[in-house]
Amino acid sequence: MLIDSFNRIHNYLRISLTDNCNLRCFYCMPEEDYSFAPASRLMQTHEIEEIAQTFVRLGVNKIRLTGGEPLVRKDAARIIASLAKLPVSLHMTTNGVRLHEFKEVLHEANIKSINVSLDTLQADKFQLITRRNNFERVFDNIHMLIDSGVHVKINVVAMKGLNDSEINDFIGWTKDTPVHVRFIEFMPFSGNKWTSNKVLTWQQILHTIEQEYSFVPLKGDPNDTSKKYIVPGHAGTFAVISTMTAPFCSTCNRMRLTADGKMKNCLFSKGETDLLTALRNGENIENLIRESISSKAKELGGQFINDFENVQSNEIQNRSMISIGG
Ligand code: SAM
Ligand code: SF4
Repeated sequence: MLIDSFNRIHNYLRISLTDNCNLRCFYCMPEEDYSFAPASRLMQTHEIEEIAQTFVRLGVNKIRLTGGEPLVRKDAARIIASLAKLPVSLHMTTNGVRLHEFKEVLHEANIKSINVSLDTLQADKFQLITRRNNFERVFDNIHMLIDSGVHVKINVVAMKGLNDSEINDFIGWTKDTPVHVRFIEFMPFSGNKWTSNKVLTWQQILHTIEQEYSFVPLKGDPNDTSKKYIVPGHAGTFAVISTMTAPFCSTCNRMRLTADGKMKNCLFSKGETDLLTALRNGENIENLIRESISSKAKELGGQFINDFENVQSNEIQNRSMISIGG
């Protein structure tokens, strides 16, 4: 088992398959000087399998594939099929653009729950945020998943002046659509021009919803990163993820593997452990994984505290979100 110095058991691994993407969300991918890692620097399929197997031996029972956009990787289908054979529950976070091409693969892999990112219900705003014109495709693919019985969670990065006016449109969507909408507080990463006044806090989100709807809390799970609610009578549910104003670090069970094979023990960790080079050199990576977990900071990578109005984003040492794997 992987237990850190704060007694947190780590059994959930998020694997980034690529730092490449078919969208260009401005809060995720830096506008200037961003170049994708060359394929030779990325973990190859067999290396992903081998590293994932090691984590499973150490107690991991949940894996999420992410990126960049996991479904732009050429061998994504092969990776999904091979990780589906591990004794883990397998999940994915995707922008949804290519989901229709993977319907069979996802079904064969028995993936029961997929997170799709969608920050707006307006096609023109989608283009503004992602710099691509794929709203209809993503929206259709969300419905394709729902129709095929997959539980769909919608990730909405909530930002002032961007989509704050759409909060209740999303809640309205849950009336007849069985989706779970998750409003995520905007987080600072390298190159994303984060400032505290763009953060729409979870209290502000709930306050907006309460102007139009009555809702009740739902019971959460021990390692939940969100507070969940339902408007009675609605087919879908919603949640707020309060990373910036009320982080959930005390119950954190997550670890990350970047597409170039570096382990991060926290989304905000400054340090990284190079598992891929060690694997290629024939070294035992178990010890490296254990060392990384024992050095995990108590909260927020040890880089800032949850006094979000005073966070100096330029002092945080980290990658951009797209190259970490969200
Ligand atoms: N491409 C996939 C997608 O968009 O779902 C997976 C990778 S993306 C980095 C994972 C999640 O991180 C997405 O839901 C995205 O909205 C979220 N994200 C990216 N940058 C963020 C930021 N600065 N603050 C909060 N969430 C962010
Ligand atoms: Fe691509 Fe996802 Fe980042 Fe948007 S949030 S740029 S879809 S990786």
